[in-house]
Amino acid sequence: MDRGHSTNQHGHPDRDYFIDLENTYGAHNYKPLDVVLERGEGIWVWDVAGNRYMDCLSAYSAVNQGHCHPRILAAAVEQARKLTLTSRAFRNDQLGPFYRELCELTSSHKVLPMNSGAEAVETVIKSVRKWGYQVKGVPSDQAEVIVCANNFHGRTITIVGFSTDESSRAGFGPFTPGFKVVPYGDAEALERAITSNTVGFLVEPIQGEAGVIIPPAGYLRRARELCTRHNVVLILDEIQTGLGRTGKLLAEQHEGIESDLSLIGKALSGGFYPVSAVLSNSEVLGVLKPGEHGSTFGGNPLACAIARAALKALVEEGMIENAARMGDYFLAALSRFKSPIVKEVRGKGLLIGVELLPEAGGARRFCEKLMSRGLLCKETHENTIRFAPPLIIRQAELDWAIEQIQSVLAEG
Ligand SMILES: *Cc1c(COP(=O)(O)O)cnc(C)c1O
Repeated sequence: MDRGHSTNQHGHPDRDYFIDLENTYGAHNYKPLDVVLERGEGIWVWDVAGNRYMDCLSAYSAVNQGHCHPRILAAAVEQARKLTLTSRAFRNDQLGPFYRELCELTSSHKVLPMNSGAEAVETVIKSVRKWGYQVKGVPSDQAEVIVCANNFHGRTITIVGFSTDESSRAGFGPFTPGFKVVPYGDAEALERAITSNTVGFLVEPIQGEAGVIIPPAGYLRRARELCTRHNVVLILDEIQTGLGRTGKLLAEQHEGIESDLSLIGKALSGGFYPVSAVLSNSEVLGVLKPGEHGSTFGGNPLACAIARAALKALVEEGMIENAARMGDYFLAALSRFKSPIVKEVRGKGLLIGVELLPEAGGARRFCEKLMSRGLLCKETHENTIRFAPPLIIRQAELDWAIEQIQSVLAEG
């Protein structure tokens, strides 16, 4: 710590000190923007030098409620003082109320709580396979799950095994068999891929990581019909699109459908703690019997108390309606820019992608320019900038963001 170049005039370690530590001692599996944050409140975060930034990423939509939301914080502190972890060997007084509140809010029948999003995805894959053998009558070890090209569902071996993104999967094989990939947004391709061994279709309502890719209108409705007709479980990964991000509680509501299984995570805790859940409208979760699946931390009282407060904040403070209103406003403003380097602006609610033409030289340098103007966002793939501010953002704040974005695009 006593390194001359890395303290500021008050003797506090500066940005470079923390960056050096990360580079020296950490695995380099990320390439973050070089901003070192130490504090957050609402849509704002502050770096170690005291500079303020508007957060337009929201930790990949995990802090939809804004940073350090006071009601979630109070629930977290109160519960942390009382009881944090019992394991599921015993019951706790937060789990049941969490189940009921989540089921009532999402019109689900059953919930299975996990921690990370990837664990929720693994949970549904296990569940639909077992359902396939026990209920649908698929011959043993023949179950197939259909997924989409350019999907993002997490980072475990099984999940990256059915990714089509080379950097996610190259060098990590051998992979889990039993997956088929079809083009995203193409219901005919889905229908052709279904066989009598197909147990599930796993799909994101909007592909966030792929660059905010929105499927053609009616796609999810078609997928719903096909899954029903062929006795296939429709699984929507709403880990990023759910909990208000697109202007509805769940993105499935834009098409007026109901999945059989939906996955939520990220904003389920408002960013305080990893909490994910599988929501079930069908008999699928019923195939899991005691001892067949679990997680030491899944459903712990601290997680449940935090998630209950995070859901209440989202609903009672009108964040979902605000996301719809502000999202329309933001998208309209960005779409009005006449920029020779913008290929397309697209989005739903406050999940917005600005895709640049390849000639623009990549989205990263625009993110760096925006950072120096006090706005944090991140490129997704080469050429798309994703804007996903907390759902509490107000119009005047968006106006400022729009001005910054317009300026850096005009600079080219
Ligand atoms: C983030 C994300 C996941 C994985 O969640 P983790 O908590 O990082 O494991 C899965 N699916 C989608 C759509 C996501 O955006």
